[in-house]
Amino acid sequence: MRSSVSSAAVASKIAVDAEGYLRDVRFVPSPNFDERPAESAITLLVIHNISLPPDEFSGDGVIELFTNTLDPEAHPYYRQLRGLKVSAHFFIRRDGETIQFVPCKKRAWHAGESCWQGRSRCNDYSVGVELEGSDSMPFTDIQYVALVALTRALQEAYPIRDIVGHFDIAAGRKTDPGPCFDWTLYHAALGVDG
Ligand SMILES: [Zn+2]
Repeated sequence: MRSSVSSAAVASKIAVDAEGYLRDVRFVPSPNFDERPAESAITLLVIHNISLPPDEFSGDGVIELFTNTLDPEAHPYYRQLRGLKVSAHFFIRRDGETIQFVPCKKRAWHAGESCWQGRSRCNDYSVGVELEGSDSMPFTDIQYVALVALTRALQEAYPIRDIVGHFDIAAGRKTDPGPCFDWTLYHAALGVDG
């Protein structure tokens, strides 16, 4: 089952265009972005998890959050998200569907206060990918397939040097993508040692 992750990812080749849109995926525009600082090459890929309500995977809560249309009264948890302006470039659902919210050329607001190898403000130079999930539940095989295909497309388009979890750049504040994210499987599917 798991060996199918790498071969399937090879089969579904996708590409990022010059403006940073992934071809052939659903684009849902988020207003939560701005310009990257001048001369900020995209060198970092940040992997997250999110689900809204927490641990529920069927609804459109994440899409609503990223498009500022989440009803704060629709669920008790949503009250604390009122007025929050966040986004990610990509969201990979449990069924493997990839949705893009912000073109890669623009700065999405996914990392918050963050630092990687001494350089702060990771949003400036990263692409953010949210996996629909939580810290307590394994991700689906088809999510890994979609993530590997997306990673390869991003690596072809940008000089990505490092791939990290949100935890790695905001330790003490963030835990995602969490202990259920299988870095070994992901690295193996990418053909990376370790
Ligand atoms: Zn995160």
